[in-house]
Amino acid sequence: KDLRLEDNRGLSEFLSKVSGSCKFSLIYIKNENTFNYFGEKRILFLNNTLSELEAGLTSYNLHLQLIRGKSTDVFNSLINKYGQISLYYNKQIEPYCIKRDRLVKEIVESKNGMICDFNDSTIFEPGEIKNDSGEQYKVYTPFKKNALNRLEKNHYVNVKTDLNLIDSGNEVIVEINTDSEIKTGKYELIEKSYFSGGRKEGLSLLKDFYTTGISEYKIKRDIPSVNGTSRLSAHLHFGTVSIREALRTAVTALEKSKKESDAAGIQTWINELLWREFYYHITYFNPQLISESFRKEYDGLKWSYNEIHFDKWSKGITGYPIVDAGMRQLNSEGWLHNRVRMIVAMFLTKDLFIDWRLGEKYFAEKLIDLDFASNNGGWQWCASTGVDAQPYFRIFNPYLQSKKFDPDGSYIKKYIPELKDLPPEYVHEPDLMNESEQRKFNVIIDKDYPRRMVDHSKVRDNVISEFKKISYN
Ligand SMILES: Cc1cc2nc3c(=O)[nH]c(=O)nc-3n(C[C@H](O)[C@H](O)[C@H](O)COP(=O)(O)OP(=O)(O)OC[C@H]3O[C@@H](n4cnc5c(N)ncnc54)[C@H](O)[C@@H]3O)c2cc1C
Repeated sequence: KDLRLEDNRGLSEFLSKVSGSCKFSLIYIKNENTFNYFGEKRILFLNNTLSELEAGLTSYNLHLQLIRGKSTDVFNSLINKYGQISLYYNKQIEPYCIKRDRLVKEIVESKNGMICDFNDSTIFEPGEIKNDSGEQYKVYTPFKKNALNRLEKNHYVNVKTDLNLIDSGNEVIVEINTDSEIKTGKYELIEKSYFSGGRKEGLSLLKDFYTTGISEYKIKRDIPSVNGTSRLSAHLHFGTVSIREALRTAVTALEKSKKESDAAGIQTWINELLWREFYYHITYFNPQLISESFRKEYDGLKWSYNEIHFDKWSKGITGYPIVDAGMRQLNSEGWLHNRVRMIVAMFLTKDLFIDWRLGEKYFAEKLIDLDFASNNGGWQWCASTGVDAQPYFRIFNPYLQSKKFDPDGSYIKKYIPELKDLPPEYVHEPDLMNESEQRKFNVIIDKDYPRRMVDHSKVRDNVISEFKKISYN
């Protein structure tokens, strides 16, 4: 994370502290054992980003040193070879990262080394936004209000980094052997990826969004067939674009906006950045979310584990075009529009009543922008098991969602070309066509496209009664 040379707190602090004769190394620890969970496109995004970072450092006559191994093994070896060290890094909030960093801290401090860690992935330090009783918020809206009230310039100031401050002659090229058994993989892109990674791409997306998208965000953000959102999620996750940069851009746009409608668009986007913030804060204080529902009582739900149903959902052959288009986009591009993420997640957890953890894992394997806090938060919101989640009785009707957010079916047709000739009245529900209409529009149901795998109106009642059993117990 925070894979950039500019506007980077940890790097900035390091540069300001490293004195004339101080020896240093700039390292990235690569543990491909943790890649089991990652999709190929995400790994390539990371690899491209690291290559760009390396090239950036080369221009200062410095090196990005990739060390393969488990972090604890790497630091044990480093300290054995080079003695006491000071370690500068930006913190991560994911439960497994917190555990890893704690172990590294113990190793470094046990040899009288120094840990200098900084918060850089969120606008506010986790825990900074509390309610009047000093507790963490469990509802987004008051969290957002409080966050907006406290927002000051220093939350989005550019944290300057001047790499000319260090003498490349003091750089140490690390030579260590770790005990870790780390697999190495060769990753090739089979299909086109939505993003390729690196800061240049991130900055260009941010610039495009600033010039053409942010003021219309409020009206366009829910329409998956248009580029109405920033598409910065992967860059914000890997830190190729800093969260401060994103917020700074929005604040600049807000200051320059002349129309109320533009300001509303920009403010709505800032609110989305605060959803990210909210989930980060929740995750930081609730590491159990890695396996448990936020609302523990819902871990008593008797989810269905129907493998055939899961398989149809994951392949995008449910017979619900908006769901299928979404899953096909996810599978082929590694990214998905927020509205469609909600629709497919709601369909899996409600219409198919399959455990949100399976959907969360599937997304994790496919998304380039996989982010534990937002993914877990999004899944638990849709499953109604999460913090400030959608109430269990408010179940999205996939057809109504489809008609509302993709009225002419252009999103559906892009990802399900076999439906390209269907008029708007059938594109959302192709299995309503009679035989002559099927011939006329070149789609034979069950041959070219499946009929609906479950009947939304019937499953809805079952789901509600399952939730009620828990709620009334
Ligand atoms: C089931 C589900 C799973 C999700 N998984 C992820 C994930 O793994 N990684 C991820 O970054 N986002 C996830 N989201 C949130 C959201 O869908 C994406 O952040 C958004 O679609 C990314 O597109 P964008 O960058 O164009 O967003 P924009 O609309 O331009 O928003 C700007 C930024 O705000 C943040 N943001 C926007 N919406 C949300 C939200 N609902 N929750 C948290 N942060 C938000 C993101 O960082 C995003 O890049 C998930 C949502 C759902 C419903």
